[in-house]
Amino acid sequence: MYHQARYDEPLLFEMKGAKSCKLDINLNPELVRERLDLPNLPEYEVVRHYTRLSQMNYGVDINIYPLGSCTMKYNPKLNEEIARMFMYLHPYQDESTVQGALQIMYELQEMLKEITDMDAFTLQPAAGAHGEYTGMLIARAYHEYKGEGEKRKNVILPDSSHGTNPASAAMAGFNVIELPSNKEGMIDLEALENVVDDTTAAFMITNPNTLGIFEENILEIAKIMHKNGALLYYDGANLNAIMGITSPGKMNFDIVHLNLHKTFSTPHGGGGPGAGPVGVRGELVDFLPVPIVNFDGEKYYLDYNIKHTIGKVRSFYGNFGVLVKAWAYIKRLGGEGLKKAAIKAVVNANYLKERIKNYYEMPYRNLRKHEFVVRPKNVRALDVAKRLLDYGVHAPTIYFPLIVSEALMIEPTETETKENIDEFAEIMIKIAKEAEENPEILKEAPHNAAIRRTDDVLASKKPVLTWKMYREMKERGEVDY
Ligand SMILES: *Cc1c(COP(=O)(O)O)cnc(C)c1O
Repeated sequence: MYHQARYDEPLLFEMKGAKSCKLDINLNPELVRERLDLPNLPEYEVVRHYTRLSQMNYGVDINIYPLGSCTMKYNPKLNEEIARMFMYLHPYQDESTVQGALQIMYELQEMLKEITDMDAFTLQPAAGAHGEYTGMLIARAYHEYKGEGEKRKNVILPDSSHGTNPASAAMAGFNVIELPSNKEGMIDLEALENVVDDTTAAFMITNPNTLGIFEENILEIAKIMHKNGALLYYDGANLNAIMGITSPGKMNFDIVHLNLHKTFSTPHGGGGPGAGPVGVRGELVDFLPVPIVNFDGEKYYLDYNIKHTIGKVRSFYGNFGVLVKAWAYIKRLGGEGLKKAAIKAVVNANYLKERIKNYYEMPYRNLRKHEFVVRPKNVRALDVAKRLLDYGVHAPTIYFPLIVSEALMIEPTETETKENIDEFAEIMIKIAKEAEENPEILKEAPHNAAIRRTDDVLASKKPVLTWKMYREMKERGEVDY
């Protein structure tokens, strides 16, 4: 079938029924090995190996995935198909040959504007954290333009905020001030007023916050920020509690990022790719990265003409495949569909909370939006997470938000049916009873999974990621299995 390549002759491929084709590649002899130590296996053994591995893992195609703050779990396969239709495009193609792709980007910008009530969007950022960083760079450029760059050095955020928020603000050159939440888990208005002044560049929050609680004083908060010349930043990673019902614009935010890979049909997790578009309002429109996509009535084009642009934040135009999936998802659901998804996400979370609330501690009892946080009795959050694996369920997010000790952050999402949620609730209740009657069984869980409880510290200090690594470490006596 193929000819073993040698560095001193051109690569030659011979395919059945086709003329042999010669690739004119000059191989660098220093980079080419004479022999490759590859396993020599029949195809079915390779297929069996990977299929077996996939079964040792847990995926959304198997069962419920109640991972808090990661929103949409099941992503319609059709959208993957649609994204795949564009895989032969190249970002260097002439604009006239990619009008359809530009149209999709333009329409997505327009739809995101409508969903968030912002004035303009960039689709470039490749993740939520990247969107935050872009938003912070815009805030910095804006204050510099106003001649206040030296003065406005502080970004405030609540102690319930996602860990990427302080990191993004710090990376953009700001000092980070953490604001303690009040006992309802919300922004303490008095404390906020005490820290905001003319050194404040922005206040970064997510609403509903990571406890799943809606900041009902949001308009008051916006007023406090704007009165002090500061900007209000909306972390819209998980928009599915509010889309179609309210919007960052209606809440008077100035900058927002969305995670298309949490709310708009790209799986979150597995390391990407993602997309974190950033929307802005009013004067901030002049600071967006270039290019954005525009339409002159006849054709779509890449618009580099933005007055005070912060420049480019990513190569080319963003993770295009992720943008296509978001576009397809929003088009298919429409405004009403998005609203229904939001309502279902909220109803599902509240229903599940009601079903299990008597079996777990609930640090905050307000009405929940898309997710809620509980704490197990008598055992650690990790024990519950590991025991869930024995029942064939993925663990919720654990130990986050940081302001709740032993937190289990649960988000069933719009995806799940009542039957699935009931089944999950029964398992959570069973585990709560085990924690009371026989906590040892939880402390040693999982019992039925492919791998028993791992040593987290060892796993991160000395990861064994490949068979080869395992073999070498075994030889050196560094692993004992
Ligand atoms: C996931 C998440 C982020 C970060 O998004 P990444 O794409 O993982 O960088 C930021 N804020 C909140 C609230 C999130 O849930």
